Amino acid sequence: MRRIAVLTSGGDAPGMNAAIRAVVRTGIDGGAEVFGIRKGYQGLLTGNLFQMGARDVGGIMQRGGTMLGSARCLEFKTEAGRRKGLRTLNQNGIEGLVVIGGNGSQTGSYEISKLGFPVVGVASTIDNDLYGSDITIGVDTALNIALEAVDRLKTTASSHQRAFLIEVMGRDCGYLALMTGIAGGAEAVVIPEYETTPQQVVEIIESAYERGKSHAMIVVAEGAEHDAAELAAYCEENHAKIGFKLRSTTLGHVQRGGDPSAYDRILASRLGLAAAKRLLKGEYGTLTGWIDGSIASTPLDEVVANQKTLDPELIELARILDK
Ligand code: ADP
Repeated sequence: MRRIAVLTSGGDAPGMNAAIRAVVRTGIDGGAEVFGIRKGYQGLLTGNLFQMGARDVGGIMQRGGTMLGSARCLEFKTEAGRRKGLRTLNQNGIEGLVVIGGNGSQTGSYEISKLGFPVVGVASTIDNDLYGSDITIGVDTALNIALEAVDRLKTTASSHQRAFLIEVMGRDCGYLALMTGIAGGAEAVVIPEYETTPQQVVEIIESAYERGKSHAMIVVAEGAEHDAAELAAYCEENHAKIGFKLRSTTLGHVQRGGDPSAYDRILASRLGLAAAKRLLKGEYGTLTGWIDGSIASTPLDEVVANQKTLDPELIELARILDK
């Protein structure tokens, strides 16, 4: 392949820049011209692309977000939109595409590959909800940011004998909340994969109070059936029972910003290099991810057809260690 392009799509994740850098430099190393597409699939539709040299990706590795920009593009979900995107690629003589992104973005990759265009995905989302990669670009950084917040909240919670409900991101996946809870020593973790009722949350906080704990930290995934707002309202109604004073915090997009960790930079560099190499060799229609400690390629149809599950051992770990 002589000419390839790269885009970042969907939710931005710390480490995306390192993946872009790896794709651009690997492409150039392999003798190809590399184009960057701005604003994800939106840029593909509008022809917003430019040729990238090795120097264009200098100094971006340590920055969060994505230098190419990202967007959510509804038009790309239609066949007409995708055909419009393909015209941009064909008009510019582009023979292959690397898509760095999460679940939605890789569904887009699959749809492009079904139209016969060579595409390789790179697993990147802080939610860690993408089948075909044990861990995705951005998760480690987001987890460390959430953990730092929990540690800080714990300090103030202990001083004032408070219970905290801390809502963390993750869409419909509880991975980020679960790992934050385990690493942060939370009293409970509320995730979509495992039912926890508001009554149980009240009992957990009450029990922590009765056991003489100075605080109770409850980490709640944004996608949990009973979300943090609902749990907070229920705890307020039962404030006499819980003992602690209650506060709620939503970490929100704070988790997505920040400089990528060493782990995310290295993971992104490795996945970006592997994806570009595969594409140049003419191997495509796959997601480049990380499975069992190695780089792995999973066909895109498998990626979109399967849902990633949480390791039950981790759920057990969170339950036992909160004593
Ligand atoms: P993420 O990739 O982080 O999961 P989204 O779910 O928002 O983010 O998806 C990013 C973009 O991927 C969407 O805005 C859309 O352009 C594209 N996309 C998502 N689902 C599909 C689909 N079913 N078909 C084609 N494109 C899709």
